[in-house]
Amino acid sequence: MKILDGKMLAKSMKEEIKKRVDEAVAAGRRRPGLAVLIVGDDPGSRSYVAGKAKDCEEVGFEGNTIRLPEDISEDDLLKEVEKLNADPATDGILVQLPLPKHIDSDRILRAIVPEKDVDGFHPMNVASLWLKEPCVVPCTPKGVMHVLRDNGYEIAGKHAVVVGRSNIVGLPVAKLLLDANATVTVAHSRTPDLGAVTRQADILVVAVGRPGLVSGDMVKPGAVVIDVGVNRHPVTGKLCGDVDFESAAPVAGAITPVPGGVGPLTRACLLENTLEAWSR
Ligand code: NDP
Repeated sequence: MKILDGKMLAKSMKEEIKKRVDEAVAAGRRRPGLAVLIVGDDPGSRSYVAGKAKDCEEVGFEGNTIRLPEDISEDDLLKEVEKLNADPATDGILVQLPLPKHIDSDRILRAIVPEKDVDGFHPMNVASLWLKEPCVVPCTPKGVMHVLRDNGYEIAGKHAVVVGRSNIVGLPVAKLLLDANATVTVAHSRTPDLGAVTRQADILVVAVGRPGLVSGDMVKPGAVVIDVGVNRHPVTGKLCGDVDFESAAPVAGAITPVPGGVGPLTRACLLENTLEAWSR
């Protein structure tokens, strides 16, 4: 069994990005710019935003964190987005979620011009993904594909099972696997006998948000298991995935750990998306 180390892979992706930035800057180009808007003072959001600022610094991007008060009006937040839309030094715009309850998140996310939507959440990017047109691929699904491809796993002809069908993870992962010529099954909360489905998977991607939902007896021997879940363990309080690592690892052919699996790749893919926006 192989542990698929997301941290190492993210490190090599970041080195590659930095190399491209250094070369471009040496040739007289400006650095890629990523603006992160954070509204209010949620500790979780603050730590995510700090991580993104650190990532930008590591690869030589101009990171611009814009902190806005919790009670900002929707219209004023829209104005901030519009300023960034028009700013030639900003290639990527990210609005840290969740936003306060009085703000319509969809309206804000849709105000970002699709070319600068480095999260890939804008309906134009979603539509382009499903139409196989050039688009910004959302970071976590892109990270899942990196794990598979960069570790040399064949996808074409394999049976991939994706557990979870959210717009930000499950569905785009299923679409990317389908485009890579896997036979794809999507399971969800109304799937009876989940184990009977997951046991068919050569590639098993789990994105649910329930600690330990998938145990070893639900994994086909030798399968590649990608655990997207990020949860607090109900007993230990530690970070854990949706897959019960202890029982699944001995059965799987390869498995991503939590933490240190898909998470670091999601962050690296945000940088990759910003670099791509800047290249365009
Ligand atoms: P959502 O809550 O939006 O979606 C969860 C999905 O899981 C739904 O489709 C739901 O089915 C399905 N589900 C719920 N319970 C079960 C069950 N018992 N059996 C089978 N399917 C079930 O979550 P997200 O997609 O946003 O996130 C999923 C997980 O991934 C979370 O732990 C989240 O923290 C993590 N995550 C990690 C990221 C990373 O960078 N590593 C990034 C983004 C998310 P139904 O549609 O029927 O309700």
